[in-house]
Amino acid sequence: MEYRELGRTGEKVPTIGMGTWGMGSYSSSDERAHQVQALRRGIELGMTLIDTAEMYASGRSEEVVGEAVRGNRSGVFIATKVSPEHLLRADVMKACEASLRRLGTSCIDLYQVHWPNRAIPIKETMAAMEDLVSQGKIRYIGVSNFSPAETTEARDALTKNEIVSNQIVYSLANHTIEAEVLPYCVREKLTLIAYSPLNQGKIDTQALPKALLLKYGITPAQMILNWVTRNKQVVAIPKTTNLAHLEENASSVAVRFDESEYQQIA
Ligand code: NAP
Repeated sequence: MEYRELGRTGEKVPTIGMGTWGMGSYSSSDERAHQVQALRRGIELGMTLIDTAEMYASGRSEEVVGEAVRGNRSGVFIATKVSPEHLLRADVMKACEASLRRLGTSCIDLYQVHWPNRAIPIKETMAAMEDLVSQGKIRYIGVSNFSPAETTEARDALTKNEIVSNQIVYSLANHTIEAEVLPYCVREKLTLIAYSPLNQGKIDTQALPKALLLKYGITPAQMILNWVTRNKQVVAIPKTTNLAHLEENASSVAVRFDESEYQQIA
């Protein structure tokens, strides 16, 4: 697995982590057990950055993650998110406690503001986040779906800590963030956590250069994940519970292409 520095923290996270949107929704205990097993297998394969949110499956995604990391907490970097309707101080505190309980941990590695909420002053949210760091309940503060201007506002509201990451949609099908958000992250040394990197499974295989797929002996999903993470500031969190797909995703950045080859992809 390739590793990248999270923001300017010195902390290394894998370039390919795992998303969990949709996990926690299951129709049987077998299906739940499969989700837990898939995450455990992904961890074994090196995808030790796991992204979840209090919002996913009304908290049950965090419970599945909690079960998957039980007995191996120190080997995993857990990122979760506080919902935009919970950004007042008391709500942030309550949401964090509930996430800690569901995750079965005493500390969240990366606590992200899921979406901005203009109705709540970001200063209040960031002060609460800093208190959570001081209390040892979270290690790093991140944002998600923030514009550069919103990210700057959040950073300016912090007094002791930094915003280390912005989680945002980035795939071959949607790379609008290359105009402003990515250059901002590169310049300011924030990690860009690419969500829906496989366009939620809608992969346009025909649009990919066949010669490159053959040259490197890789699958379309691997080519896309490799392309999405070609900038050193980017990590990606594809979601899958399919064991073959997990293996594919984990080895998607085993080789890097030439710059001219990346340009053939998009
Ligand atoms: P995604 O990872 O782009 O795509 C997931 C889909 O791709 C699944 O249907 C999966 O199906 C398929 N897939 C995965 N690996 C594959 C492979 N190697 N080959 C072929 N198909 C593959 O979409 P996502 O779940 O929306 O995004 C990833 C994560 O980002 C989420 O789970 C969540 O943690 C996060 N997210 C965050 C936000 C936010 O607002 N911050 C929003 C959306 C998502 P199989 O299970 O069959 O493999």
